[in-house]
Amino acid sequence: MNTGMLKYIGLGALLLWFVIAGRLFCGRACPLGFIQELLYKIPFWVKIKTFKFDRPLRVLKYAHFVYNFVLPALVVLGFLKAFEAHEMGTPFYIVLAVIAVIIRRPFCKYVCAIGAASSLFNKFSWYRYKMIDGQCVKCGICTKKCPMNIIPYTMKNSPECIRCGICKRICPKKAFAKNKEGAEYA
Ligand code: SF4
Ligand code: SF4
Repeated sequence: MNTGMLKYIGLGALLLWFVIAGRLFCGRACPLGFIQELLYKIPFWVKIKTFKFDRPLRVLKYAHFVYNFVLPALVVLGFLKAFEAHEMGTPFYIVLAVIAVIIRRPFCKYVCAIGAASSLFNKFSWYRYKMIDGQCVKCGICTKKCPMNIIPYTMKNSPECIRCGICKRICPKKAFAKNKEGAEYA
């Protein structure tokens, strides 16, 4: 079995995980996410929460996903003749590390191909967030703390949610439903 095939068997297993958990890995287990959180804790006089092109730039991670996985997959399946994805070099990651001191999780927001793929499952995966009707008072505490700059109480299954669980933990009203049997999430 060649390495190309192995790569796509691994990708199949990953897809199964995405169906179960959506973007949960990003917020709970990804080492790059952890490193970015540490970098963002470095004191710096400018910390940018959002900026004009924040939202449009988030589309880049999907382009990265197509370039790194979809196009090579078309080669393996015989739909494309020659295409070889090239990883970004060390200088790119150094620049990104510097940006991560100022902007929280730039790799997750703008670059990560795996994050892009798993984000597509957030709305449909078994593990989803549900809120208890009438419990949220829209105090905005969760919005201030969200590392991905989304509004947890209206965008709880947004593709941008990395399932870090911060909003659930800090909500003073305990507005997010508990996962007793899994099916409670919707
Ligand atoms: S912290 Fe809780 S109550 Fe406040 S806006 Fe978020 S979900 Fe609603
Ligand atoms: S919505 Fe909640 S779980 Fe999702 S990224 Fe924001 S704080 Fe984390």
